[in-house]
Amino acid sequence: MATQPTRDDKFSFGLWTVGYNGTDPFGGPTRPQLDVVEAVTRLAELGAYGLTFHDDDLFAFGSTDAERQKQIDRLKQALSDTGLIIPMVTTNLFSAPVFKDGGFTSNDRGVRRFAMRKAMRQLELGVELGARTFVMWGGREGAEYDTAKDIRGALERYREAVNFFAQHVVEKGYDIRFAIEPKPNEPRGDILLPTVGHAIAFIETLERPELFGVNPEVGHEQMAGLNFTAGIAQALYQGKLFHIDLNGQRGIKYDQDLVFGHGDMQIAF
Ligand code: ZN
Repeated sequence: MATQPTRDDKFSFGLWTVGYNGTDPFGGPTRPQLDVVEAVTRLAELGAYGLTFHDDDLFAFGSTDAERQKQIDRLKQALSDTGLIIPMVTTNLFSAPVFKDGGFTSNDRGVRRFAMRKAMRQLELGVELGARTFVMWGGREGAEYDTAKDIRGALERYREAVNFFAQHVVEKGYDIRFAIEPKPNEPRGDILLPTVGHAIAFIETLERPELFGVNPEVGHEQMAGLNFTAGIAQALYQGKLFHIDLNGQRGIKYDQDLVFGHGDMQIAF
């Protein structure tokens, strides 16, 4: 069995993973964030096929239009120099303090509208760069206290938001689909659409369910004690495995995001 990866394996890497600055909940950064051009160049050398990124990974939250465009141009140049592609993009609706209570389901209407504008701008950039999948990880769409958010109301707001994006891509004729990424908790005490099953059930309520699938992550299922193999099997069975995040996790604890294969080698196979 060949262990040297090639582009035909279609491995892509998140800029937020390879570029990580080493911060954790109890301490600040321990290394500089890796520059996007270096990330693309090194990934290409190592046999990767694509780079994926959140808007805020490429240009800092609050960047001016000029700063944003400069980073986009640097990325485009690196892609044309290496042949790497952008198969997926996603938007960061969790890091900035404004999203403390969520993006699409924040109790604050102004925040919900801002979240939609931010996601829409990243969707347009993704389409421009040729991405075919837009991942939606709603890490802050949830609550710590059951009284802090009306779950039925929040799901309805979630539904309205994603219906809006689906309508937009249909009207524009874009060739891109959405993949909802489940996670049970962290950073919120409880996150909406916590498992593959919850997400698939939610998708069935949408106006254009055919445009929505899931993006299961090994660690997110295993931190809830679920069987990842069974989860992706059901996603495949229902035609909903639009994207997959491979990482590693050692049982039920915080989200470790270890390298794939670490934590549970048998499930990895
Ligand atoms: Zn994770």
